Amino acid sequence: MNGHNIFAGAFVDRSGHRREDPEWLHEAINSDETLFVPVWGDKCLATGEPLHAVLPGRKDVGQYLQEQECIFLGMYRDRPVFALEINASEAAPFPELGQFHDLRYLGSSLPADEANLVAQARALVLWHQAQKFCGRCGAPSRAESGGNTRLCIGENCGARIFPRVDPAIIVLVSDRHRCLLGRQSGWPEGRYSTIAGFVEPGESLEDAVQREVLEETNIEVHDIEYHSSQPWPFPSSLMLGFTARALTDAIKLNDGELEDARWFTRKELESGFPKLPPRLSIARRLVDDWLNEHDREGPSRTFGAR
Ligand SMILES: [Zn+2]
Repeated sequence: MNGHNIFAGAFVDRSGHRREDPEWLHEAINSDETLFVPVWGDKCLATGEPLHAVLPGRKDVGQYLQEQECIFLGMYRDRPVFALEINASEAAPFPELGQFHDLRYLGSSLPADEANLVAQARALVLWHQAQKFCGRCGAPSRAESGGNTRLCIGENCGARIFPRVDPAIIVLVSDRHRCLLGRQSGWPEGRYSTIAGFVEPGESLEDAVQREVLEETNIEVHDIEYHSSQPWPFPSSLMLGFTARALTDAIKLNDGELEDARWFTRKELESGFPKLPPRLSIARRLVDDWLNEHDREGPSRTFGAR
């Protein structure tokens, strides 16, 4: 497999040891060298054609800056970078610097390193918003470790709260000649995608792949192989991509999550129906890689039996 999925790529050196160095963090936050990723609502700032992320400095963000709320993301282009939640409810801030955009749009438009950076920033800002109170005792919590954890300030509690990542599997099931795609009722007309679902407590990833495919389509699978993964910060998923081989053929929509599921040949996929998921997504990558497998195997072998 070449390259990586959008939002992934580890372009930020997270410099975990700096999180526990309050003096260094204080200096960094107040340095003219430092970059900020402003997050307004759930949107991030970008400008230009082609689009690039806007990373303002200390002077630009001064009026919104509360040191305790800055989230240290790491070192980026050899400069400290912090995520900063912008609490401005009316007009969008920084109109002179750019416009705030949804992360799905940014993911498909920004260079890979910037998509990685803004995804990390947005995920952490939204996590902080949802974790103002301790889930164990209900007392308020406060940011710690440069905003990479939170600490409950309740008496006799002191629980440390870590950012959440919710694992979900996504799988391209095939029987060599055809692949299994489904659609949910809310999706754009004609769009089909790979089978996906959250991993449940007590399951391995392979267990989750087998269960989700069976629940949604009644197809049994084996030969489960890991493909790649993608941070999917809407708000906090990690998509773990797999391929699997079908053992059975007859589709039945067991759990009602899909409104339809079908087998598609490569020829059908290349004909324009179904519509495939956006290029941004690992789902599309799984389908594209399956289509390219066909080029390697050669058409006569692939279509020989049909
Ligand atoms: Zn607590």
